[in-house]
Amino acid sequence: NGLNFSGGPGALPAAVLAQVQKSIMCVPEVGLSILGISHRSDWFLGVVTELENNIRRLLGLDKSYHVLFLQGGATQQFSMVPMTLLHGKNKHPEYLHTGYWSGKVLGEARKETNPHVLWSGESDGFHRLPANDELDFSADAPYLHYVSNETVEGLQFHRVLGRDDVPRVCDMSSDFLSKPCEAERFSIIYAHAQKNIGPAGVTVVLIRDELLQNMPDNLPGWLDYRSHIKAHSNYNTPPVFAIYVVLLVTRWLLDDIGGLNAMNTLNQRKAALLYEALDQSDGFYLGRAARTDRSVMNAVFNLKTPELEQRFLSASRDAGFSGLSGHRVIGGIRASMYNGLELQAVEKLVEFMSTFQKNESS
Ligand code: PLP
Repeated sequence: NGLNFSGGPGALPAAVLAQVQKSIMCVPEVGLSILGISHRSDWFLGVVTELENNIRRLLGLDKSYHVLFLQGGATQQFSMVPMTLLHGKNKHPEYLHTGYWSGKVLGEARKETNPHVLWSGESDGFHRLPANDELDFSADAPYLHYVSNETVEGLQFHRVLGRDDVPRVCDMSSDFLSKPCEAERFSIIYAHAQKNIGPAGVTVVLIRDELLQNMPDNLPGWLDYRSHIKAHSNYNTPPVFAIYVVLLVTRWLLDDIGGLNAMNTLNQRKAALLYEALDQSDGFYLGRAARTDRSVMNAVFNLKTPELEQRFLSASRDAGFSGLSGHRVIGGIRASMYNGLELQAVEKLVEFMSTFQKNESS
């Protein structure tokens, strides 16, 4: 488990996994397995409240935000955002097309409205993100949507985009709670759990209360954020297990790590080590993303030929590493370094990469 570089489900911290293991048999406060505790129990209501408070503490969020734990993945948010914010008007929200996931976001947005694609990296194969002078944000847009970290291509924005007078909406699925994110500058942040904060099944949504004032009244109950707010994320049966694991991760972030600045320092060290290995390999390992846009979470790289990449992947598996193959749409290699992955794992990978290079070059 310690050498899990998967870009899909992230490696969870060992300390959290140990608690999860125990909770499968028995959560001591309740005397039942976590898989058998009712979502209507007082204990679970306490879990949701503590988790909400922990996220508020980690991000410094005040009461003008609602903190929701929903199902449907990040994908459900691709639709709920335009359904909520456009109130049926034919307006043109701004979207950035910076990689695979923002392409998926756009596909769903187009079913609801006519989004204006402010910038697209598609013709360039998504090797870089736009610079500020390539982006002309409009003051009239109903909102701006972007993806903070493109998980597939390994591209990450290291700044907040857009205008402060236009609502910002961000898919932070693959870098949420990996660093401070100036959350109060966003109107909606959503992130599925599966990368940094827990298992699949729950998606965290932070939404500013003022956005709900003018929303349509004819949405199906589940697709109306207000249903979930009113029911404290217990509108229908919530994923009790996934929510509990996210709670354990937030406790770990607060008590063991010491908050998001400390988490960021650890994540930066891991990424620096890996990118340094790429840069010092004399072109044996080729980083995919432009240097300034490199993701701290997902380092995507290639070797000179697909055959060499296959040999690399097979040798890495033999050496005990897992999850290093790139996303199926672009191939190559992807080393994902989510919160739970320890620095020692990256040190081992870098050592393996150096040995592999020497063996291939001799
Ligand atoms: N957005 C990003 C940035 C992702 O990385 C992913 C999945 O990996 C998704 C959205 C899709 O999330 P879900 O499968 O939970 O709908």
